[in-house]
Amino acid sequence: MDQAKVLIIASGNADKVREFSHLLATLDLEIRPQPPGLEVDETGSTFAENARLKASAVAKASGQWALADDSGLCVDALGGAPGVHSARYAESDQARISRLLVELAAANGCIDPEQGQGNRRAQFVAALAVADPSGAIQLEVEGHCPGEILTSPRGEGGFGYDPVFYVPEAGQTFAEMAKELKGRIGHRGRAFAKLSEHLAALNLVKTQ
Ligand code: IMP
Repeated sequence: MDQAKVLIIASGNADKVREFSHLLATLDLEIRPQPPGLEVDETGSTFAENARLKASAVAKASGQWALADDSGLCVDALGGAPGVHSARYAESDQARISRLLVELAAANGCIDPEQGQGNRRAQFVAALAVADPSGAIQLEVEGHCPGEILTSPRGEGGFGYDPVFYVPEAGQTFAEMAKELKGRIGHRGRAFAKLSEHLAALNLVKTQ
């Protein structure tokens, strides 16, 4: 009988493993969390590099196929910051948002972060990498969601920078958006849509 192939999610975060299982639910894969105690440092200078590092290390350690992601917010006027440092930009979501608004206002020549002049363009990026059991990277994709940074938070949902990330195509911030819509037009959703297109070609999804 055909057996689903195993894909390890290279993350210690149970919420992420659940979210990824949901996004991959239509594929014939057995999704498993990474082995406990495995920590991979995100030392890369790009999202793609960090995703590759994690996928490769977890695949080698487990002897299975592994999928890893890295994501964050890149703000044009800040030269792409916070970028790969998005999670470490400050201590809490609120502090990260405050720092972002202050730095963006300063970059645009304003003292008051409530002033919205200047370039407020930004994009969320999600990189995904799939490694085979030897640790070799077999597939890489990136999803992008363009938007603008508001001067103050809007909306109750989501996490991280969601309340200040406004998506013109939806007329809403990520925090105001229905989950289903964020899943479709958000950076992670777009990356996963690309990933599922290519997974079958890896001979990972269908077994003989
Ligand atoms: P990581 O990919 O788990 O390392 O997370 C990167 C960081 O980017 C998160 O901690 C958030 O601060 C930020 N981030 C990534 N995706 C989102 C999103 O969809 N909404 C808001 N913040 C995000």
